[in-house]
Amino acid sequence: MLWIKPRLTPYKNKRAIMKRKLIVSLIYVVFTMNLQADPLLLEDVLKRIGRTSEFQWEPFLQTGVVYDRGHFVSFYTGKKGETGVLLVDGYHIIEAPLPYIEKSVVKFPEAFVASVEKAINEEVKNDVGLFRIAAIIIDPGHGGKDTGAIGTPTINGKKTTIQEKDVALKVSKDLYAQLVKAFPNKQVLMTRNNDSTVSLEERVSFANVVNLAQNEAIIFVSVHCNAAPYKANARGYEVWYLPPDVRRSLINKSTFDGPVEVVPILNSMKEEEFTIESRLLASSILKRFDEVIGKSSPSRGIKEEEWYVVKKANMPSVLVELGFITNASDAKLLTDSAYVKNFSNALFKGISDFIADYEQPGGFNPLH
Ligand SMILES: [Zn+2]
Repeated sequence: MLWIKPRLTPYKNKRAIMKRKLIVSLIYVVFTMNLQADPLLLEDVLKRIGRTSEFQWEPFLQTGVVYDRGHFVSFYTGKKGETGVLLVDGYHIIEAPLPYIEKSVVKFPEAFVASVEKAINEEVKNDVGLFRIAAIIIDPGHGGKDTGAIGTPTINGKKTTIQEKDVALKVSKDLYAQLVKAFPNKQVLMTRNNDSTVSLEERVSFANVVNLAQNEAIIFVSVHCNAAPYKANARGYEVWYLPPDVRRSLINKSTFDGPVEVVPILNSMKEEEFTIESRLLASSILKRFDEVIGKSSPSRGIKEEEWYVVKKANMPSVLVELGFITNASDAKLLTDSAYVKNFSNALFKGISDFIADYEQPGGFNPLH
């Protein structure tokens, strides 16, 4: 459990949220229908760029990504004939005529396709090596003075106390040991490895200072247990990631070498990349949880929320909740070492699956 759940966009009331959701889904339906109704246009782009290419369209932001041979070009739409910037592999920009929307259909100018093709070919030629995960940050929730959630299950007729910080550390330490052994060439780091108090800011800055090469990525996994003090029957495990509508500043204006007005656009593209990767990491982990936990505790699925640690970490990141400490059955299970070990094993397998996909020859394709 985390207690800080700031909303970047303060919603005034429920109706505003509903209205916004409705607009988003309507736009989504309209664009999905139109993209399907006019597949030749899209197919032409893909055929032209390469057989392995794939395409993703974000209807709400009107941005998209073309993937091919482990590289990707993010773009936004403009007016017909307008030139703008495209972001190649999430870190460098090129100029090209922008795709535009005509009669609700996305159209791609010939020169746009040529630019994407050229950019990807150049990236492939200059490949500094495959994209790789260089570092994995494990963040055991809470610690020290901050116990996190506390449960008092009765085990064999004896009232026992269980603290979230202890379960999180136990799982994280075992996960750490497995990752270090399996990936000797990666940095595996923990935000705490004992019962110390670490602030949320410290956890995040810890993760954000790891040095990376351009073809390297880092992932962040925060480990927690849930609590619902007024709903004792709530139970199960879940995996959280950041929703796509939270705006972060991933590209630093002061160090960015280009026109300042494109920074917000580049940020939304970069963020979209992290969102896709975070969601993939979340589903790899959840799949393994489902496998090992089976029917012991129910799956509550993948969720989106603006958790502090996840929001501030400039990298694909997820937060796992292993179970409800306030639920008698979950709390009892979480005091069982074998049960807890299942979680670290599953986290290890889920993270390994994600890494294998990310680092596969031919590159990571977020649409797999
Ligand atoms: Zn927590």
